[in-house]
Amino acid sequence: MTTCILAIDQGTTSTRAIAFELRDDGGLHPVAISQIALQQHFPASGWVEHDADEIWTATLQTCREVIAKAGGIGRFSAVGITNQRETAVIWDAATGEPLHHAIVWQDRRTADVTDRLKAEGHETAVQSATGLILDPYFSATKFAWLLDAVPGARERADRREVLLGTIETWLIWKLTGGAAHVTDATNASRTSLMDLKDRVWRDDLCALFRVPRGALPDIRECAGELGQTEAGLFGRALQITGSAGDQQAALVGHGALKAGDAKITYGTGAFLVANVGPAPVASTSRLLGTLGYAVDGEAAYALEGSIFSAGSAIQWLRDGVGMIADSRGSEALAQGLKDNGGVYLVPGFTGLGAPWWEPEARGAIIGLTRDSTPAHFVRAGLEALAYQTRDLLDALAADGAPRLGVLKVDGGVTANAFAMQFVADICDVTVERPAFQEMTALGAARLAAYGAGLIDDLKPRGDEAPAVWTPRMDAGERERLLGGWRRAVRAAIVAAHD
Ligand code: ADP
Repeated sequence: MTTCILAIDQGTTSTRAIAFELRDDGGLHPVAISQIALQQHFPASGWVEHDADEIWTATLQTCREVIAKAGGIGRFSAVGITNQRETAVIWDAATGEPLHHAIVWQDRRTADVTDRLKAEGHETAVQSATGLILDPYFSATKFAWLLDAVPGARERADRREVLLGTIETWLIWKLTGGAAHVTDATNASRTSLMDLKDRVWRDDLCALFRVPRGALPDIRECAGELGQTEAGLFGRALQITGSAGDQQAALVGHGALKAGDAKITYGTGAFLVANVGPAPVASTSRLLGTLGYAVDGEAAYALEGSIFSAGSAIQWLRDGVGMIADSRGSEALAQGLKDNGGVYLVPGFTGLGAPWWEPEARGAIIGLTRDSTPAHFVRAGLEALAYQTRDLLDALAADGAPRLGVLKVDGGVTANAFAMQFVADICDVTVERPAFQEMTALGAARLAAYGAGLIDDLKPRGDEAPAVWTPRMDAGERERLLGGWRRAVRAAIVAAHD
């Protein structure tokens, strides 16, 4: 009888559990899934909160459901966790009760703190220690806000009566009945408190961000014993042996294990994570330096960059201006044109990220003629995915990252073959989309299987063949199109300023 790994994927909008069967070929195959949507709380403009207890209850329920669906607890041998990153939880060590709603990664309430730290000139030092720019996105300022907001929490944190953690820490603490207060190094690398190279909390950063070291969890590697679930929860104790933040788990899920391997997830936005090898690479393009994963005392570091509007440009074409009835229809419309007709859509709906960093920029459509049709708008929206990806890859190259091998892709937009071929053409790189799309949960399961000693390495095995797109555009055409894109971006930036 084959054994199963229980993967918990605690995301921003839902909590999921997936049972993966470990087959004789060393491959992990999904056999059961359960999912519960997560309520979003918006108590003020720019504030986003989750109820940590709701997350815990949903985790228990989805786990129990997949254990039952997969044939009972006797089939399971390990648990892996992956989670929305940077989200900050505070709870009472004695009662296990959250002391406040969790502050979600998107939350901007601490922008005044990071603005002040920037004005005081701390950014260079923080970036060189942690790889991260100063931004309310990361957990440290959220932890400090929670400690200030909950009466008495600061004093109680000093006595370890109040604990802090990101979502995987909270879940491991609950699953182990309070026995383990731990984080994995990928999640720790998103706090602004961890030394990226040595993978330890830094006292100077704890002081700068006003987060008491004693309230923070112990930093562990991504695979190995993290704790044991309380026997009463699932009928038998299970070892928790894998943990990584969602983007990093996806890197492992894709098997992007070598320097130069990269993955990009094309959803509403797009997240690029590129493996840069065993030492951190300092970015001068404002990409984020982060940890890919750490196992057996070895680390793979990564650079990360994001595109704010990817699939959301397609959503806008559908829901905002009604040019397509459904997202899928975009492919045929774009394919139906012989070229883009000189039309470029810059999807700066919420500003432009790397390498432009123009938060005030807004969207633009450039190059319209009397021949332009809705199909040109749609094609331009899809093409923009590729141009923005190319901009990120250029930023990676400028930072001295290892030469890109294959670009592994996942997410809703990758259903669009036109867009994926255009990414291959514009980025001049081979694009691979795995048949199984749940890369995040798969990565957590693979780390857990490795941490439990059930597999010998993290390499993918037994997966179905991926869809592959290879570049076939000639260099002259690529440069011509990129020239048009860059002019369009400059126009969008000029339009945003006096
Ligand atoms: P998220 O996890 O961010 O919600 P998903 O990975 O579910 O995103 O992807 C959803 C996005 O993919 C939506 O923005 C949608 O417009 C886009 N999308 C879905 N199918 C297609 C398609 N065939 N062509 C282009 N975009 C698509």
